[in-house]
Amino acid sequence: MSKDKLITCPRCGSDACYDNQESPNLINRMCYGCGFMTHNYMKEDSEFLQEQLEVLPELYKDLIFIDDNGYHWIPSTVNLPEKGMIYVNGASSENWNWTAVPVKLIPEDEKERFPIKGKPGQFHIYKMDHSLAKSFKERDYIEALDYIGVFNSKITPPNIGSTGSYPSESSEK
Ligand SMILES: [Zn+2]
Repeated sequence: MSKDKLITCPRCGSDACYDNQESPNLINRMCYGCGFMTHNYMKEDSEFLQEQLEVLPELYKDLIFIDDNGYHWIPSTVNLPEKGMIYVNGASSENWNWTAVPVKLIPEDEKERFPIKGKPGQFHIYKMDHSLAKSFKERDYIEALDYIGVFNSKITPPNIGSTGSYPSESSEK
């Protein structure tokens, strides 16, 4: 069973920071005030963090915030095939925004150009509509989520910030 509670974000001070304990050894923290997230494996001495640092775009690396407990907070990345995506966009850590891109329906006659990987004969219904891309300020992260319609779905908020690539963890609950 996972337990959620709200804590104060050490980065921005917002109280819209979810602390989601997925298992005794796995805690995810996702702040809706500033859009940054962290979890157990985002600490200095972790191999996972080192691996992340190798693949993170430079701007994300520049934006890393380290809290008093050694947790590294990085900007969350949203990529939902049926909603859209949100990512960090900018010239430097002093000058950046969230870019939110909603999806649009793929016209029937174009569908065949968007096959679903690994599922022969099945096609995507939506594609990212870059013509509707919109910028949001750092503290307007929640508006960016709203813009792509995240709150209209059944997805529970703490899953949004998940990178989905945690080291495997025995799940005795
Ligand atoms: Zn925050």
